[in-house]
Amino acid sequence: MSLRPLLSAAVLTLSSALAQAGPPLLADGIHRPVRASAQTPTAVLGYSPSHMDRSVDPRQDFYAYANGQWLRQLTIPDAESDIGGFSLLGKHLDTQLQGLAVQASQRSSPRGSPAQQVGDYYRAAMDLTQRNAVGLQALQADLESAARVIGPVELAQLSLRLQASTGNSPLLNWVTMPDLKDSRRVLLTLQLGALSLSKDQYSDPASQKVRELYVDYVTRVHQQLGDAPDVAAAKARTILALETALAAPRLTPLQAYDPAMIYNLMTVDEAQALIPGIDLRAMAAAAKLSLPERLQVKDLAGLRALQQLLAQRPPSEVQTLLRWSVLALNADHLGQPWLQLSQDYQRQRDGLAAPLPLERQVVQALSQQLYHPLSQLYVQQHYSEATRRDITHMVGHIKAEFARRLKTNPWLDAPTRAAALAKLAKVDIQVGYPQRWIDFSRVDIRPDDHLGNQQRLAAFQLQREVDQVGQPATRQRFAEVGHTTPISVNAAYDPQLNGIDITAAISQPPFFTPGADPVVNYCTMGAVLGHELTHGFDSMGRQFDAEGNVRDWWTPRATAEFKKRNQQLVAQFNQIQLLPGLPLDGALTLGENTADLGGLTLAHAALHRTLKGRSLPPVDGLSTDQRCFVAWSQLWIYKAREERIRFLAAVDYHANSAVRGYAPLMNLDAFHRAFATRPGDAMWRQPADRVRVW
Ligand SMILES: [Zn+2]
Repeated sequence: MSLRPLLSAAVLTLSSALAQAGPPLLADGIHRPVRASAQTPTAVLGYSPSHMDRSVDPRQDFYAYANGQWLRQLTIPDAESDIGGFSLLGKHLDTQLQGLAVQASQRSSPRGSPAQQVGDYYRAAMDLTQRNAVGLQALQADLESAARVIGPVELAQLSLRLQASTGNSPLLNWVTMPDLKDSRRVLLTLQLGALSLSKDQYSDPASQKVRELYVDYVTRVHQQLGDAPDVAAAKARTILALETALAAPRLTPLQAYDPAMIYNLMTVDEAQALIPGIDLRAMAAAAKLSLPERLQVKDLAGLRALQQLLAQRPPSEVQTLLRWSVLALNADHLGQPWLQLSQDYQRQRDGLAAPLPLERQVVQALSQQLYHPLSQLYVQQHYSEATRRDITHMVGHIKAEFARRLKTNPWLDAPTRAAALAKLAKVDIQVGYPQRWIDFSRVDIRPDDHLGNQQRLAAFQLQREVDQVGQPATRQRFAEVGHTTPISVNAAYDPQLNGIDITAAISQPPFFTPGADPVVNYCTMGAVLGHELTHGFDSMGRQFDAEGNVRDWWTPRATAEFKKRNQQLVAQFNQIQLLPGLPLDGALTLGENTADLGGLTLAHAALHRTLKGRSLPPVDGLSTDQRCFVAWSQLWIYKAREERIRFLAAVDYHANSAVRGYAPLMNLDAFHRAFATRPGDAMWRQPADRVRVW
């Protein structure tokens, strides 16, 4: 757990930025010298024929053919869970960001400016001596209050204080999001607190080891707080039992993406009747929030489970859970020994041999906390307007191609086709960074108070939510932490905005290389752009209209045709085994698999249109289409530890990255032509079984 704003929008992304429990923690007390950023790892990133293994038959194992040499050289670093294009670019990005933070920390800048805030945050976070000296002092009041809290008003006040100081109350949180049925309106939403483990990890037999490590961690923390070993162990078992009860009825990741499941508007009295154990009016008053007439409850069953726990468990057990939460939520930002305990746990849980270096952990926390100030420094120094123009230009081509294909699509009927074209025309695509930055200048960031900086940033985020209640919706672009900030290696479609953010950080190799072979740029970045565009028309995105409202604009006939193709894709991906006994979840990953297929289809078609039918001479012995598909596959090169594969398989809407490097291709006629596949080949798929959606 850690301080991260709760994701309020249901954005559809290119890749998941899911950490098992927030960003990694820091524990090592040595301030290492800053490494020069001269050895840019991106030099080896991106398409290269030298990554291929031409001794492999592409018709039998295309992924190994496209990536074999590279796969042999890639080793998962001791301190990381996986390695691939995203994580290698992420590492390069961290080096760039660290350089900016160090520069900022060494000069004096006006108070409230991005450079002052980034520099002082970095200094305070790196100063473990000061963090150790502070100890638990700043948390004492919350720890004591958690240990004796009783009754609906006190619980409400403590819950609000924890949201305001950590960004995530374990009880309830106030967040805002646009009304799913009227995107111009902001809805105040009651969101349950995030738990330490993912929902499936509390019950899945394969996660028994994770649960044991967690109980061990909680036990150690309580011993450190002064409990005898048996008392500490008993508390840890209670905490696991309570969290398991809270997690069991909660929405699954698939349900949480279903607008029909999360759209539960009700009056304050109706919401209060669901959770009499926490006084909602007191929780609003503590936030100086005037309650609107109606609010939204995203997870009804989860809320009932929280009420049941408050009503049926002895208050002492609830207090134990809350006291633990105060510590767990802050552990990343304390000094020793809390930091070490937390880090040891996460390292064991993720199967890592070593922790990430301190400065890299600080940079990752900084990217999540001061996401816009740091992004401002980043785009000034590292982002080229020429790249922004090139990508914007490519967006136009891909979008035009999509429109052409919608016009000639064989299974859409006329009314649905017209509505789809109208929706596509309205998609608003922004590249690089927002036109308007979030103004962080009033947050007091000090060079010697790391925990305080975290708390003031959490309070600022809560205030931003509160300020939006009762106001017309104004969507801030590039502001979903970990997904769409300019320094996230990602791209995302937001169905409520009918808009796409393509970040500055993803506008570099392996996704885009200025001046490189257009075949490669189209079949990497072009396919990413197409991927995002088709999200507006996948199983979730299609439920929203051009204005970003949930409305069924499909005829029953078009819906039936669409669902038929969905079912084929689900069945295809359900066949894939990630580990022995662990199949890929075709239903959970349907939208993303549809987007990969659509994105690649659009990019390939747009590429040929820009070539105007000319055929380019082979390069490195590869035809145009062969290079296109090899480049796509190399974008998804991936190795991961078993712990990571299991964790993501249960919660990630994206298929395992390596699967993305070959599975969509098998549906493309052009792929089968390019490599002359035949019946009996492992990569072969009967023409009748190839799925074409867009
Ligand atoms: Zn996506």
